[in-house]
Amino acid sequence: MRKKIIVGNWKMNTELNEGIKLADSINKHLINSACNATVVLCPPFTHLASISETIKGGSVFVGAQNCAFEASGAFTGEISAAMIKSTGAEYVMIGHSERRIHYNESDKVLNKKVALALNAGLKVIFCCGEILKEREENRLFEVVKRQIEEGFSNIDIEQMSNVIIGYEPVWAIGTGLTATPEQAQEMHAFIRKLITEKYGNSVDNNLPILYGGSCKPSNAGEIFSQPDVDGGLIGGAALKTEDFIGIIEAAN
Ligand code: PEP
Repeated sequence: MRKKIIVGNWKMNTELNEGIKLADSINKHLINSACNATVVLCPPFTHLASISETIKGGSVFVGAQNCAFEASGAFTGEISAAMIKSTGAEYVMIGHSERRIHYNESDKVLNKKVALALNAGLKVIFCCGEILKEREENRLFEVVKRQIEEGFSNIDIEQMSNVIIGYEPVWAIGTGLTATPEQAQEMHAFIRKLITEKYGNSVDNNLPILYGGSCKPSNAGEIFSQPDVDGGLIGGAALKTEDFIGIIEAAN
């Protein structure tokens, strides 16, 4: 049985004091409840060290939303995987559709980020998913296959034990539209098969595959109950303690 994982992607929201308060309230709530899921909060970079300190010894983990595609050097404004690790964060999201779309991050660049993050000792939450047009043209499997194959090119079997995949159909992110449990299951099973073909059963049986796209307390339980859905990547609903806790409870 794979343990459920719930990741909160805060995107570019909350100022530092608000972020600390939010993390503290989620952490305190979970300390006082019987929570079986692993919970990861991904605030903006500026909050990582303070939130890592706030939740120390608690029930949640901290992750970043992105990292640089080089290890160090003349890359003004960038944050390296090793810098993230040095804040106390343990996870990093790579390949979110907002990074792919607004910052033109290619599969090749994302592959470099995956390798750097794993080498720095971070766990990688790798996001993939099709846009609406690709689904309508029935190209969703071809697109996700390319994202996975290129994203993990040269990543070996041992490194895969520190990888989580997030399937996020782009048309469902922040839109209020959610994939049906059947649509999510179909793609998750496909991703698991791709991973088996490349790495064998030992990786695919343990690989967590999360669903992301307008999850709410009211729809999370049904999606998470699918056999290949191991939890969720949560955007908007991760910014309200009550909603986020409701989603975590749906994973129990
Ligand atoms: C996301 O950005 O990863 C996400 C799933 O957002 P939302 O839950 O708001 O759709």
